[in-house]
Amino acid sequence: MRPHRAFSPVIQEQVELFGPEAKHLLEVLRARPGDKLTLFDGKGTEATAIIEAVASGHLWLKVVEKRQASREPPVPVELYVALLKGDKLSEVVRAATELGVSKIILIITVHSVAKEMGESKLQRLRRVAVEAAKQSERSLVPLVAGPIPISEVPGVKQGLVAHPGTSRLVQEILAPGSPVSLATGPEGGFSDAEVLLLEAKGFTRVSLGPRILRAETAAISLVSLVTAGAGV
Ligand code: SAH
Repeated sequence: MRPHRAFSPVIQEQVELFGPEAKHLLEVLRARPGDKLTLFDGKGTEATAIIEAVASGHLWLKVVEKRQASREPPVPVELYVALLKGDKLSEVVRAATELGVSKIILIITVHSVAKEMGESKLQRLRRVAVEAAKQSERSLVPLVAGPIPISEVPGVKQGLVAHPGTSRLVQEILAPGSPVSLATGPEGGFSDAEVLLLEAKGFTRVSLGPRILRAETAAISLVSLVTAGAGV
C-alpha cells in the first residue's frame, strides 16, 4: 500500500502534525510510530517521513527524503467561477483541484443568486481544496480566493469563457504552452455585458457543446478539456 499523504505547510527535518490532519491520521488511518508517510507542503515539495512518536492529537515525524514533486500542469490554469447556490462550489473546488488548477477565484455576477460568501464558507472551500489535493496526489494546493466583482477580473494572457451560443471549441482555440484563465457563469448565466467585459480582458468565448450544462458541470468540463484533455 502507498504511504498515507499528509499536509504540512512547513517541511523541515522534524515535523509535528496536530489539528485535523493529525486527528485523521491517528483516528481514521490508525497511523502508528514506525509508519511511513508522504508529506506535501502545498507549494511543490514532498517528503517521505517516518512517524517517531504519537500522543493524543499529535504526531512527531522525521523527514528522511525531500523532493520537488511534479504532477502539476506545465503552465498555470486558473478558474474564475461565479458564486453558486448551496454547496455547489465545493463540488467545483474538489473537481477543479483534482484536475490541476492552480487558483480558483470566485466572482460575483449580475445573475448570481448568491452575492457574497462568509469567511467560514470560504475556509471550508479551502479545506476541500486541501483534501482534494491530497486525494489526487497533487503537490500544490490551489488558492481559493475572492469573491470579487466580475469587473475586477484582471487582464489575462489567454482566457476562455464558457458561454452557450458560440460554436468555437476549446481544442480549436487553446494554446497549450501558455498560462490560461478560464471563466464559467452562475446558474442564470453571464449577462451579455459581462461576456463583453471578459472579452475586453483577453477571454475568448467557447462552447461546451449544444446542451446547457449546470453551472458546476460547466466549470468542471471546461477545466477538464484544458488539463485532462491535454494529458497535463
Ligand atoms: N440560463 C443560462 C445558462 C447558464 S448555464 C443561459 O441560457 O445562458 C451556467 C454556466 O455554465 C454558463 O454561464 C456558462 O458559463 C456555462 N455553460 C453551460 N452550458 C454551456 C454550453 N453548452 N457552452 C458553454 N458554456 C456553457
